[in-house]
Amino acid sequence: MLKMMDVKKVFRTDLVETQALIDFNLHVKEGDFVAVTGPSGSGKTTFLNIAGLLETFDGGKFELDGQDVSHLNDRQRSRLRNEKIGFIFQSFNLIPDLNLFDNVDVPLRYRGFNSAERKKRIEHSLDMVGLAQRMQHLPSQLSGGQQQRVAIARALAGEPRFLLADEPTGNLDSQMASSVMDLLRDINAKGTTIIMVTHDANLAKQAKRNIFVRDGKVSEVTVSPLAAKLCAV
Ligand code: ADP
Ligand code: MG
Repeated sequence: MLKMMDVKKVFRTDLVETQALIDFNLHVKEGDFVAVTGPSGSGKTTFLNIAGLLETFDGGKFELDGQDVSHLNDRQRSRLRNEKIGFIFQSFNLIPDLNLFDNVDVPLRYRGFNSAERKKRIEHSLDMVGLAQRMQHLPSQLSGGQQQRVAIARALAGEPRFLLADEPTGNLDSQMASSVMDLLRDINAKGTTIIMVTHDANLAKQAKRNIFVRDGKVSEVTVSPLAAKLCAV
């Protein structure tokens, strides 16, 4: 689980100070699928980067799987991030001159798995996103939707407890976006907790819970009607 209590984040430059998060409160339980919406500049990315231990914060408390992460140093934070968190970004962030197999391999090498273990994880995760037949392709030989699937495979290969996604469908047409959303729901159904920032109200509705962020705070939490209906069936 992931628990934030009164988390604060201030960005300072020479001229301005921006309070990106002001008393940000959220509790995400194991197995949840949370969609985060809110106006541009409201703090969604800042929240996600702190949740994913990519960014530090300036006040309040943040517990990840029961561990207080406020006082971890950079090395401890990146170790925890590699173990527990998978990230997906709007821009896919694949390495253009590596084929799909090697792209998914990058974070696994960093974790120090042996080659047999890596191969097993790479094949399994590319299979999960429906791209097992394309392991030797380069990202440029794929559609945008397929490239995002590779990025999802790369995140899943680490077997993360949390999958964090910042506008994962922002560069995709609506059909591809909806198939990426179906994939995320599958992954969530298999047990991975997902937090997804999105602009798309139709996609947000398909998550289990929606949180609305305004001015650096959670201003509203709703259980998605569609998800509630799906759960009730
Ligand atoms: P959102 O993702 O909801 O659009 P962000 O979390 O990116 O919003 O930004 C929240 C606020 O923090 C904005 O006012 C933004 O300009 C500011 N901000 C974000 N990152 C930085 C940074 N690295 N340096 C200075 N200000 C930042
Ligand atoms: Mg953002």
